[in-house]
Amino acid sequence: MFTAECPSCGAKVSLRASASTTAVCAFCKSTLVRRADALERIGVQGELLEDYARVQIGTGGTHEGRGFSVVGRIQLRDESGAWNEWYVLFEDGSTGWLSEASGQYALTFDRGKAPGVATFEALAPGRPVTIEGERWSVTDRRTARCTAAEGELPFPVDSRWEARVADLRRDDRLVTLDWSDGDPPTLYVGRAVALEALAPTLLRSLAVVEETAGALEGGLQSLACPSCGAPVRYVPKLAANVTCRQCKSELSGRSEGLVLEVERADRAERPTWLALGDAGERDGERWTVIGILARRAAEDPQEWTEYLLYSPKAGFRWIVHASGRFQWVEVLNEAPEVAGAGARVRGESYTRNDAYDSITTWVAGSFNWRPKVGDRAHVTEFVRGSGDGRRTLTLERSDTEATWSLAVDAPAGPLGAAFGKAAAPKATAAVAATDGPKRSVRDLAVIFTIVLGVLSLPALLFSDDDLIGPAIVAVIALWAPLRLERDEDD
Ligand SMILES: [Zn+2]
Ligand SMILES: [Zn+2]
Repeated sequence: MFTAECPSCGAKVSLRASASTTAVCAFCKSTLVRRADALERIGVQGELLEDYARVQIGTGGTHEGRGFSVVGRIQLRDESGAWNEWYVLFEDGSTGWLSEASGQYALTFDRGKAPGVATFEALAPGRPVTIEGERWSVTDRRTARCTAAEGELPFPVDSRWEARVADLRRDDRLVTLDWSDGDPPTLYVGRAVALEALAPTLLRSLAVVEETAGALEGGLQSLACPSCGAPVRYVPKLAANVTCRQCKSELSGRSEGLVLEVERADRAERPTWLALGDAGERDGERWTVIGILARRAAEDPQEWTEYLLYSPKAGFRWIVHASGRFQWVEVLNEAPEVAGAGARVRGESYTRNDAYDSITTWVAGSFNWRPKVGDRAHVTEFVRGSGDGRRTLTLERSDTEATWSLAVDAPAGPLGAAFGKAAAPKATAAVAATDGPKRSVRDLAVIFTIVLGVLSLPALLFSDDDLIGPAIVAVIALWAPLRLERDEDD
């Protein structure tokens, strides 16, 4: 272990891993680089974002029989969200990286430069690439910036540091190609892991995670939308990307409150089956609805609704509600194997069912990325089983990501009961939301027109001008708002 004084504040700073060249002073946040027996200050780190990380410096664990402890961290951010790369020191002196993103984990190991593998530009999500004789599928390609770092690291980073990385997957195995220090990329090889499988010690407590992520049990924090003034409920620090339910403006949750990013003025509020802040139990966890979006297939106006759920311990899940059917959805931390018209994951085969382009049509709440109205994804579905036991394996491809998710059909009754809803709605929530309120006004208008028509009939017959005028005015008054609503829709 190398120990020296911080040249800025005099605090004792240690480097435990022999591969470490850089340390961030825990007291003054100076970025320090090792030079022979001393540390040289090359800058100062920004503030780490408070996030929902379970891991922290000092967290221990075991991977494939080897003990490790977490000694450093780089916090990264791009337009889609923020995540952590934890620098891990094993008891045999070797090092690795534990990535923590949206409640999913992977451990990878530096395998050095990989000349001629691929170019960053060529790695389109969903595309197969051969590395060391094996076929891998690109799941992610992004350019991110370092928000801040802490602990010790094998290279210096600061806010100017840009990570250009692509992830490729094959089953639960993962390859990361990193162009951060130019071409050729550095190859990291490893696998997706479940946090519990690492037998972790000294995790941040769930109470602390919940506290920093916003008091979820007590509902979401509520602040006025800076664009339209409507109350916006969101999860501070957990999901920095927020969309106002009322005007659809895109907002950022920052320490100073909600900041307007993109202003919109579509004042179409829509009721949904579950509301932001609703919570329910499933699989032994308590889930809170933090985001809601509606989507439709490109060739079909029928919308469906998707609810993003969060649990501090288990991460994220989705409830998808389409045509009276509910699905409980988990985003996979592994890439199923696709062959011909089938796909295989966790030892089970699925049959290709459907493929279409989807368009996001409505967004509200907080997300772990920034969804927008008009977002397009290419969706391929594979199914297994039927009835209530039906499961759907879905691949969604956008320009930056290829995401696999596994959905189980969830009977409406128990699901509704779990979330405190007496009964699930019969129609698709999104469609009901579009038609419901209008239909009731329209029905009222039809009834009144008939009633007034009947009432004015004698007036017409008997030429009583005193009644015809008010009757016509009443009919116009009732139908006028419907006209207006239809015009707004166009
Ligand atoms: Zn210092
Ligand atoms: Zn607003």
